[in-house]
Amino acid sequence: MNKYVAKVMEDLRAKQPWEKEFLQAAEEVLSSLTAVLDADPVYEKNKILERMVVPERVILFQVPWADDKGEIHVNQGYRVQFNSAIGPYKGGLRFHPSVNLSILKFLGFEQVFKNSLTTLPMGGGKGGSNFDPKGKTDNEVRNFCNSFMRELYRHIGPNTDVPAGDIGVGGREIGYLFGQYKRCRNSYDSVLTGKGLEWGGSLIRPEATGYGNTYFAQEMLATKGQSFEGKRVLVSGSGNVAQYTVEKLIQLGAKPLSMSDSNGTIIDEDGIDEEKLAFVFDLKNNKRGRISEYAKKFPTAKYYEGKRPWGLTKADVAMPSATQNEIDAQNAKDLIANGCTCVSEGANMPSTPEAIEVYKAAKILYAPGKASNAGGVATSGLEMSQNAIRLSWTREEVDEKLHNIMRSIHKNALEAAAEYGTPGDYMNGANIAGFKKVAAAMIAQGF
Ligand code: NDP
Repeated sequence: MNKYVAKVMEDLRAKQPWEKEFLQAAEEVLSSLTAVLDADPVYEKNKILERMVVPERVILFQVPWADDKGEIHVNQGYRVQFNSAIGPYKGGLRFHPSVNLSILKFLGFEQVFKNSLTTLPMGGGKGGSNFDPKGKTDNEVRNFCNSFMRELYRHIGPNTDVPAGDIGVGGREIGYLFGQYKRCRNSYDSVLTGKGLEWGGSLIRPEATGYGNTYFAQEMLATKGQSFEGKRVLVSGSGNVAQYTVEKLIQLGAKPLSMSDSNGTIIDEDGIDEEKLAFVFDLKNNKRGRISEYAKKFPTAKYYEGKRPWGLTKADVAMPSATQNEIDAQNAKDLIANGCTCVSEGANMPSTPEAIEVYKAAKILYAPGKASNAGGVATSGLEMSQNAIRLSWTREEVDEKLHNIMRSIHKNALEAAAEYGTPGDYMNGANIAGFKKVAAAMIAQGF
């Protein structure tokens, strides 16, 4: 590790030793930058790393709300406005009981580099709450969203900060949040993305992260002269990203074998087809049920309580699409022992550093989420563009733009990796390409 990086990491660890997810994300990015930092002293002279690892602003607020019995609850709300060098802060809101400042800082930090890679003018941010939407009525979720936005509205705006969805925040929550923002501001602003089509949303936004990850993996496979046709693929999660990953895999002739949730995994050796996926869409988006129901409905599937998909069956490709650190070193070894030659991340930081070491040692194709799942935020950027020009592009137009963006992220990451001496290393390439653009803007704008 370069001396400058070692010093910045040591300072960070001393100041916030409890922020383990953030430290993990910071170390991954910073240690990729050795060759760039060695080549040019301008970054150290301008204290770029010290400035990049501290959010420009963190907002922490109380979110009191009443359940259907009238009982009052108080959650914590956050918005981490990490870096605005290349555009307004942009990044999702996560509602999940595990949410804390370390997780939101890791997500906001990753978002800075990811947004830079999309080629669109977006800074990085992330927010959310430790609220758990599971098991809550629509009325309770609306009460919560109203209270959350009652505070957040004063800190965001179309040229300041434009949040979107993430775990636990889908179309329903974005609707409630947007309604409350509009009531507070008396202004119909393009202030959230992932909106409904009737009120400013973009076609393909719901599909974008899953489709984009599949397009990225397609590009990686093509470098080895391969395609998705007939490939056996493990997907984790059964939410937004997982659902549209499976949809695109089916369209490309692959055989998606698994989906999961926090209770367990289903493996369907016959493959998940369109009819079975339609069942998952209804189960997860309308009934808000558990993935175990799939195995009750389709006898070709087996349910594994408490298990993740990795290594449960032979597979060529893995597309983790649930949450952070869901593949550890043992899972990575199991994947490789079962024939996996490509890991393309739909989730943010789903592989632990030890798992990444296993991929590297085995020389398999590996795409970090900040490159492969950037299609979601890229299409959010396209939603902002359509709002700004007050026009809506067709499904085909948006899908083509998304596809082109994923191709250029793949190309830029590969080229940066080769230029700095690590050919084929998408992690280094993505971190370097994302970093250089943001750092150049920070230097140009002074301090
Ligand atoms: P959803 O809330 O729609 O789905 C999340 C899925 O992951 C659910 O099946 C959920 O199961 C499962 N999951 C969540 N937490 C855990 C956990 N701790 N252990 C096991 N399973 C878990 O979220 P998304 O699909 O939107 O997001 C999935 C991942 O993709 C996240 O890492 C997110 O940051 C990332 N991402 C999302 C983007 C987007 O556009 N939505 C863009 C880029 C990245 P359960 O229902 O049981 O909780």
